[in-house]
Amino acid sequence: MADSAPRGDESGPARPGILMGRPFGIPVYVSPTWFVVAIVITVMFEPQVAEHVHRPLSYVVALAYAILLYASVLLHEIGHSVVARCFGLPVRAITLHILGGVSEIEQEPRTPGREFLVAAAGPLLSLVLGAAGYVTLVLVPLPAVAVLLIQALTIANLIVGVFNLLPGLPLDGGRIVRAAVWKLTGRQRTATVAAGWAGRVVAVAVLILGAVLSVSGDGGRWLTVIWAALVASFIWVGAGEAIRVARIRDRIPLLNARALARRAVRVPQSTPLAEAVRRAQEAGAGAIVVVGHDDDPLGIVSETAVIATPEHRRPWVDAASLTRTLDPGMILPADISGEDLVAAISRAPASEYLLVEPTGELYGVLAAEDISKTFARA
Ligand SMILES: [Zn+2]
Repeated sequence: MADSAPRGDESGPARPGILMGRPFGIPVYVSPTWFVVAIVITVMFEPQVAEHVHRPLSYVVALAYAILLYASVLLHEIGHSVVARCFGLPVRAITLHILGGVSEIEQEPRTPGREFLVAAAGPLLSLVLGAAGYVTLVLVPLPAVAVLLIQALTIANLIVGVFNLLPGLPLDGGRIVRAAVWKLTGRQRTATVAAGWAGRVVAVAVLILGAVLSVSGDGGRWLTVIWAALVASFIWVGAGEAIRVARIRDRIPLLNARALARRAVRVPQSTPLAEAVRRAQEAGAGAIVVVGHDDDPLGIVSETAVIATPEHRRPWVDAASLTRTLDPGMILPADISGEDLVAAISRAPASEYLLVEPTGELYGVLAAEDISKTFARA
């Protein structure tokens, strides 16, 4: 139900789910947790179905409900993704999981108007599905079991549509608030922070509503409270994350590879690790670069691997054996900064990068850890 902000940190083929298909060319993954939830939904819904059809057919109908429920969530996500794609924003995947779905849209919309349309498309589709269900129930005479199924789906789609329109991040309604504040103030960052705080207010409101309902309701008091607390904490965490991302984005323009660089010592391939470390300490350098016969850099000694090697083993280990070979993506210009630097790092994730001058000369080593530290203060 909630949609993630664009993510740049997930790369590689590893996916938390099973590829179910590619509607509109967008890969759709289903998390294994979904199968557990589908069984729970089937078992909980089946007694109602059993009033109209015999067992075991009732289980088939209940399972169909579980599948159609997720198909509804999928359509909601496809709504976001297709509109995003119309604006040229790449969509990496849609993942359906235990709490709903996520569209992984790789870039933020460039204007408040587009932000609004991408955010509104999902809930709009859910509400249209709900309305279509309602109209069908009113106009078309159907057998009792079909009425039950369509009723349940209609209610589910209306709940998904309305819930996602609650005006706070990380919900779609929060993105609509962000688009509005962005339009009014012309400032995207202010808009994100405002929508994030609105999300925290929504979270508290959900918690209070849960408490009020549990006091006034008869049965299932604890279930209401627990459910409200779960939803509220989900919104609270997402809202905080949105605010944090806004603060991190503030720091991106300040990132500067040259300023963050560690001085590096060069050592030949066959140098024992103990000797390489000694030379680095002597030179006050924070990194070790292994070079070939012609003094060309071959790789960067991994700091993590050095720390993991006990002191007494270091004289017997070649520095080269703890070296990650240089991929082209690990060599960056020393003057790279800001968004360019972030983009370069997400294209080729590594723990260390080699910084070179325009002349091709080695400037130093940029450790991913040092970049994280810049953001950790946000
Ligand atoms: Zn949505």
